[in-house]
Amino acid sequence: MSATNLEELFVLHLRDTLDAERQLMKALPRMAKAASNEDLKAGFEQHLAETEEQIGRLEQIFELVGKPARGKHCAGMEGLIEEGKEAIEEDSPEAVTDANLIAAAQKAEHYEIAAYGTMATYAKMLGMDDALNLLKQTLAEEKATDEKLSELAASINFEAQHEEAV
Ligand code: FE
Ligand code: FE
Repeated sequence: MSATNLEELFVLHLRDTLDAERQLMKALPRMAKAASNEDLKAGFEQHLAETEEQIGRLEQIFELVGKPARGKHCAGMEGLIEEGKEAIEEDSPEAVTDANLIAAAQKAEHYEIAAYGTMATYAKMLGMDDALNLLKQTLAEEKATDEKLSELAASINFEAQHEEAV
């Protein structure tokens, strides 16, 4: 289905993002399990809980626009998660794996920040204030997650830097 106007484009992006969030919800427990740093592990678990709420917000927005909450395969998130899997599977020292998990997670967060930013712009133009508020809440959470990952990276990257090369 091709969109013929901005409202339809908004729905297409809602469907893409719903699928992206669902993919991430499945990936986050694996990332938490693969992380050695306790704060990073806890961070992934916390973001899993937030992601569930974000999916709930998207479902509310589908109701507001009167469309079924149906996802549409998000190839972008699939690729980002695929790269994240390589971080999990690689046989590296713990700090290096953790640093790589942070890199993968931040790429996924930036992808989501772009998606929610775009959808917030559309909702604003379409005069959908309730949808806009819900999108802004999620956008703020994604940005906070990204900042928290940057803070964790400061110490974890330092540890990775000082691993002995074999
Ligand atoms: Fe999200
Ligand atoms: Fe997120």
